[in-house]
Amino acid sequence: MRALLLLFWSAALLAAADREVYWALWFDTEDYIAPEADDAALRLAVELEKLDVRATFKIVGEKARVLEQRGRRDVIRALARHDIGYHAENHSIPPPPAMYLRLLGMDEGAVEFERREGQGVRDLQRIFGVTPSCYGQPGSSWGPQSNIALRRLGIPVYMDEGSQVGLDNQPFWFMGVLHVFRLGPYALRANLDEEGKLEDAKRLFSERVAELKRRGGGVLHTYYHPTEFVATAFWDGVNFPRGRYTPPGDYRPPPLRSRESSERAYRIFLDFVRHAKSTGVRIVTGRDWPQLMESPVRPLEAGQAKRWLREAIDVRGAYAAADQLLAVLGISPRLVDGPAQRVASTLRAPALPRHLFERGKQDATGYLERHGRLPSHVWFGAECLSLADFAATAAGDEGGAEVRVRRGVLAFERFIAADPRKAFTWAIHPENFEAPELLELGRLQAWTLKAARLK
Ligand SMILES: [Zn+2]
Repeated sequence: MRALLLLFWSAALLAAADREVYWALWFDTEDYIAPEADDAALRLAVELEKLDVRATFKIVGEKARVLEQRGRRDVIRALARHDIGYHAENHSIPPPPAMYLRLLGMDEGAVEFERREGQGVRDLQRIFGVTPSCYGQPGSSWGPQSNIALRRLGIPVYMDEGSQVGLDNQPFWFMGVLHVFRLGPYALRANLDEEGKLEDAKRLFSERVAELKRRGGGVLHTYYHPTEFVATAFWDGVNFPRGRYTPPGDYRPPPLRSRESSERAYRIFLDFVRHAKSTGVRIVTGRDWPQLMESPVRPLEAGQAKRWLREAIDVRGAYAAADQLLAVLGISPRLVDGPAQRVASTLRAPALPRHLFERGKQDATGYLERHGRLPSHVWFGAECLSLADFAATAAGDEGGAEVRVRRGVLAFERFIAADPRKAFTWAIHPENFEAPELLELGRLQAWTLKAARLK
């Protein structure tokens, strides 16, 4: 009997510990200059198919058009059997996204992103027959306005590895777009040049999988570029370094690998993939992510939301600060954007009369319903409270004749990168390029940041 109980007990423990770990393999398919990169994409697609591994090829618009012009139906067909994502219209011709988004606000930036990057999405739809499943920025050229444009373009997932925003090295929701982004220690690669380090890379992969299983499941990803398998330097570094413009007639191909070096790269990569597969991870593509996640819209009890907001304005697991404020205001759960700007409180009074507070609260609710975003400030007569102070005040409201004004502290801003130069370091951006404006917009949008939970 005791042995039987022990058996049940350990089986139950195992079931709890043995949650699903998901792995996505994706390729930024971007080199539209070296024809050898077309062959690399084809070979990777075919070899992975033989291993029964479906990858995501995030394709640059110009790359798709060049494949078509070169008559590479073979490459297009092979890639189409995997998943197709999007990797910008032309990737590196100046100005890249962070440069042109930097001086624009939320709405103007979103329209501008759509104007500049939309054609590539339409070309991918025409050439591959599908709407791309996901987007990833060229290099570190990030801007939060892109998320509004991606929603309009019908692209629900942001899959990339960058430093600008992240939550506990696992997937998250940001501005209503599912992000598989900044996985940090769970973004794993094997070095394609050092066969001697392959065993270490494989061991690390196994360790990370075991770690995620212990945590009750999770997500890892691995990324490469087809051009890496045939070239020793990036195609755009050769033609567009530090913001340089090169007209198409003057494009120079990147330096190529020797046949031996190229074969070694494929060998290392395929060995790494076979190992990843052997760990029992579930292999998924950009298109699978939304179905694997719980809905980002979920009910929240107002009392709980008030307790959280009184303590700090922060991310609470799968609840964004915006969700908590909506619950306090009695607005049904929904996806909204963060405020478009930062406005400071002008109200200095220590308390508000009930009627004036209720009027402001109604005003905030009306704004939310109409704009689909949080107001940057809320009016109480001719004075206003910043969104943070309004949230803290509403959460602290105990229902008396007067409402004490409280000051809110935005704890969630720590999830946005702080260094405006480091966050945008990329060989294609001009020397010392920085975009503090974009990080500031990111901090405002972090009202919407929350964990994405696997079903
Ligand atoms: Zn790229």
